[in-house]
Amino acid sequence: MIPFLDLKTQYRQIKPQVDDAVLRVMESGQYVLGPQVEAFEERFAAYCGASHCRAVNSGTSALHLALLAAGVGPGDEVITVSMTFVATAAAILYAGAQPVYVDVDPVTWTMDPARVAAAVTPRTKAILPVHLHGLMADMDPIMDIARRHGLVVIEDAAQAHGAEYKGRRAGSIGDLGCFSFYPGKNLGAYGEGGAVTTSRADLAQRIALLRDWGQASKYNHVIAGYNYRMDAIQGAVLNVKMDYIEEWTEARRAVGARYDQLLASSGLARPNPPAHSRHVYHVYAISHPRRDVALKTLQAAGVGVGIHYPVPVHLQKAYADLRFKPGSLPVTERLAGEFLSLPIYPELAPEQAEYVARALDAVPGVEAA
Ligand SMILES: *Cc1c(COP(=O)(O)O)cnc(C)c1O
Repeated sequence: MIPFLDLKTQYRQIKPQVDDAVLRVMESGQYVLGPQVEAFEERFAAYCGASHCRAVNSGTSALHLALLAAGVGPGDEVITVSMTFVATAAAILYAGAQPVYVDVDPVTWTMDPARVAAAVTPRTKAILPVHLHGLMADMDPIMDIARRHGLVVIEDAAQAHGAEYKGRRAGSIGDLGCFSFYPGKNLGAYGEGGAVTTSRADLAQRIALLRDWGQASKYNHVIAGYNYRMDAIQGAVLNVKMDYIEEWTEARRAVGARYDQLLASSGLARPNPPAHSRHVYHVYAISHPRRDVALKTLQAAGVGVGIHYPVPVHLQKAYADLRFKPGSLPVTERLAGEFLSLPIYPELAPEQAEYVARALDAVPGVEAA
């Protein structure tokens, strides 16, 4: 049995430090925000190469507040992708704005900048690229379009802690970067968590206000805000994990490289990371022409698999939008029917990756390249 995800093995490796850090929070009497969260914010900002980080209670809250801080509201359009977790689009709707979906690039599976330029209208306020599966979107042309039209860029980096694009980290290129620390993410809390990074002090201050009821000081509410604060326990856990994030990221990349080698002659398409990028493999996805057969074959061999994501946002019942009918985003829609995610985590052994590749080889009906 090779599970799709294994969070307990990692916990066992750091149990003494985590348990100690959590107990210290319990004894401190301060359970929301506070020194543990502040220490984490400082470390995470430095890790991302951003001047500021503000921790919140989920990646979804991070996206919502980043949009509000950027001034996105009713009547505005935000250009994003449909090939993402629904939270990206939901956050745009929470802000009262409209998501405008563009197709993804068939090679990198991230936002196609050529489509972005064509989607800009007088109502466009922001561009929200998603660094899908741990590979950063093509940020240079996206930033160029944004500058030309005076748009804000918000990176959905929920799957891309430590990913790089031309030597710059996720969360440091756009005006704002949004991260999730949901347990299964590359940097995971033991509960919910998220953060916004930015190098603009005004935006950081606005996020800090919005996450804590708009309070400039206790009971002095200067804007209408939310209760999106991070728990102290999650801050303490994340501080412990910051000591390991690079080691774990490199281990993930090694598993990714191992799969690349093992699948080199399989004929199965995978995103081709440009040489200037550091892919952090939140997910190792392949595109399989007989996905459903492959899924069953792997499951029968005891391999945990996933699909990220089987139905793009614009085809989800809850997010249906008359402007984006079936067929409107052909690359996204084709990939949704072909995506298959293999187990990947820092602790996955080389023999396990080999076992997965062999199980995949046994799927009938794919011509070897
Ligand atoms: C996980 C995720 C989110 C949402 O983060 P939560 O912490 O679960 O709210 C947003 N966008 C993407 C791309 C994600 O993978």
